[in-house]
Amino acid sequence: MKEYKNHFEKLSQIREGKLSLIENVNYFLKRIEENSKLNCYNFVFNDCIQQAELIENKIKNGNAGKLAGMVIAIKDVLALKNKPMTCSSNILRNFISIYTATAVQKLIDEDAIIIGKTNCDEFAMGSSNENSAFGPVLNPHDNSRVSGGSSGGSAVAVAADLCDVSLGTDTGGSIRQPAAFCGILGLKPTYGRVSRYGLTAFASSFDTIGPFAKSIEDIALVLEVISGKDEKDSTSYDLPVPDFSKNLFTDKKFKIGIPNEYFGEGLDNEIKNAIEEQIEKLKSNGHQIFQISLPHTEYAIATYYILTTAEASSNLSRYEGAHYGFRAEQSSNLIEMYTESRSQGFGKEVKRRIMLGTYVLSAGYYDAYYRKAQKVRRLLKNDFIEAFKSVDIILTPTTPTVAFKIGEKSSDPLEMYLSDIYTTSANLAGIPGINIPIAKNKDGLPIGMQLMANQFEELKLLQLTKLIMNYN
Ligand code: GLN
Repeated sequence: MKEYKNHFEKLSQIREGKLSLIENVNYFLKRIEENSKLNCYNFVFNDCIQQAELIENKIKNGNAGKLAGMVIAIKDVLALKNKPMTCSSNILRNFISIYTATAVQKLIDEDAIIIGKTNCDEFAMGSSNENSAFGPVLNPHDNSRVSGGSSGGSAVAVAADLCDVSLGTDTGGSIRQPAAFCGILGLKPTYGRVSRYGLTAFASSFDTIGPFAKSIEDIALVLEVISGKDEKDSTSYDLPVPDFSKNLFTDKKFKIGIPNEYFGEGLDNEIKNAIEEQIEKLKSNGHQIFQISLPHTEYAIATYYILTTAEASSNLSRYEGAHYGFRAEQSSNLIEMYTESRSQGFGKEVKRRIMLGTYVLSAGYYDAYYRKAQKVRRLLKNDFIEAFKSVDIILTPTTPTVAFKIGEKSSDPLEMYLSDIYTTSANLAGIPGINIPIAKNKDGLPIGMQLMANQFEELKLLQLTKLIMNYN
């Protein structure tokens, strides 16, 4: 039933009366039900069918917004007024948002239809969606494997055709890594490009919101809608937002850097070969390839986990049973109430991070860990500043392996953290990155490739992605 490649095609089919938006929304609702075992939605909004009717009329009358009729799922860490927001945590099990995130409001203002909220790792901490109070999300290519995380539900909702587009968040790879595991596009914008107002904070100096989709046109369109300065987020940048979707086509030849450090030990051979094949195609299409070095790459994971846990330990102190969500019942005084609420409400990984973060910030350790990591963050950023003096784009694998088995890494946090080895650097440096599905391995599992660009140069990422998809 879903016979359109991107939003532009969908709109013209609706205008020509070839596609009914109401049937289309019903189609998604039905598919969501049929695929409930994938577990990618925490909440489905069946009432969105009423909006479909209104918007279909607007489209026919020519007064609809840019995203009219686009069916969008949002990660359950983004606020939507009067709807639940759990962050896949028991501590927010019964929480209802009292306002709407700016990025989500911008979608609604352009007449998108929000169909539901997607499962994720608790407070976006994880790489496999196994840290969710709602249970793991299954990979649609092989149900015994993880979806990736933390935005696993958002990735699967798109990959399994249970919405047109979804929003996820990326603090260390949570859009790009699940996109790679599920075989779709996922874009992490520049830090500050999209307002974080209404995004539940995990690590505030890293968190970004971005889209998942199957077509680059839809990624570009959604990105241009959600981007821009917002009075409610002082870290959002006041820079003009390009018309990404109108400028996707280019015959420009790009200078592409391949960093040695991303092709060493631990990289799966099939992924390596698939990427090398892409590099050859880029060369034969006239792009210039340069071997480059990002010398501090080996410190990225350690730096990321020191700084993000520090920020998380502070951000998550607001959940104490008094202001929000879950409150433990049997406690005899205030401190006990706080302790019990947090002990019972948070899952294991969240507790681990709060403890790690509290430790690296504590007197006596602050200089050795937190301050040191801040300095290394600067060095990592300098690596990119240096590299982008001579190249437009940096090309790497997105992940060292394809989607792993459910349970395979959940007992070994370090092993799990290493699945972010190629993605955390972009968050440390604040630069944009995208996952492009490029191939499948011998077992039919998707392989992803990552492109990164300098701050606010998303357009280059989108343009080169468009070219690469055409070459394939
Ligand atoms: N997997 C990484 C982590 O566990 C990244 C999470 C994210 O980007 N939200 O922190």
